[in-house]
Amino acid sequence: WPRPLVAGNWKMNGLKSSNEVLSEIQVGYTPGLKAKVDLVVCPPATLVHSFAVACVGSRVGIGGQDCHAKESGAFTGDLSAEMLADAGATYVIVGHSERRQYHKEKDADVCVKAVAAHRAGLTAIVCVGETREEREAGKTLAVVRKQLRGSIPVDSNSHNLVVAYEPVWAIGTGLTPTAADVAEVHAAIREELKRLVGKADHAKVRILYGGSVKPSNAAELMSVENVNGALVGGASLVAADFLAIAGAY
Ligand code: 13P
Repeated sequence: WPRPLVAGNWKMNGLKSSNEVLSEIQVGYTPGLKAKVDLVVCPPATLVHSFAVACVGSRVGIGGQDCHAKESGAFTGDLSAEMLADAGATYVIVGHSERRQYHKEKDADVCVKAVAAHRAGLTAIVCVGETREEREAGKTLAVVRKQLRGSIPVDSNSHNLVVAYEPVWAIGTGLTPTAADVAEVHAAIREELKRLVGKADHAKVRILYGGSVKPSNAAELMSVENVNGALVGGASLVAADFLAIAGAY
């Protein structure tokens, strides 16, 4: 089994004063917890460098929330994967549903961003997930498989790729799929990975569940087969909740 990973996606939340939350997370990342699970915090880009500096030696990883495909150039407002790596990040989320929705990112865009992440030495956390309409139409597995085929670069392996299954309708809503539904989608993702990543390594790629993960439902969700961790939004902004979710392993 791959070693579990619990990653916090802070989205557009966090100021300099949020270093207190990070400190609490570091203090709570006890040797017992370190033995069980990897922790990553993905703050807004303005905090990546200071958080990475603060985490030297603590084994809490830092990630970006998006990156541009190119290394540098005339792309006002964008950030390259190399810049995130230079700032101390070791992970970057790509293809989050909020990027797909608000910035019109397609699978091909996500794929070149993941390629950029790998080029810069980062682990790409590639997000996929169906909308409510797609689930109600019975298209969940087809949608997720198509997103995976379009978004995962050919050079991916269990070190530079993490997949996050985040049903769009479960994000920030308090709704979650049943354990059986999560198991079905994660099994399909594992099967796709066999073709995309290769037979030797596909079983070691971590597949995270994301969407309204809280301390109260973490143990049930994390016990599902092929769920190798969580991508946590709102609850990752509260150190005690983030740590409780990690402790559910
Ligand atoms: P919530 O945990 O707030 O539902 O957000 C999930 C998410 O989008 C993480 O990337």
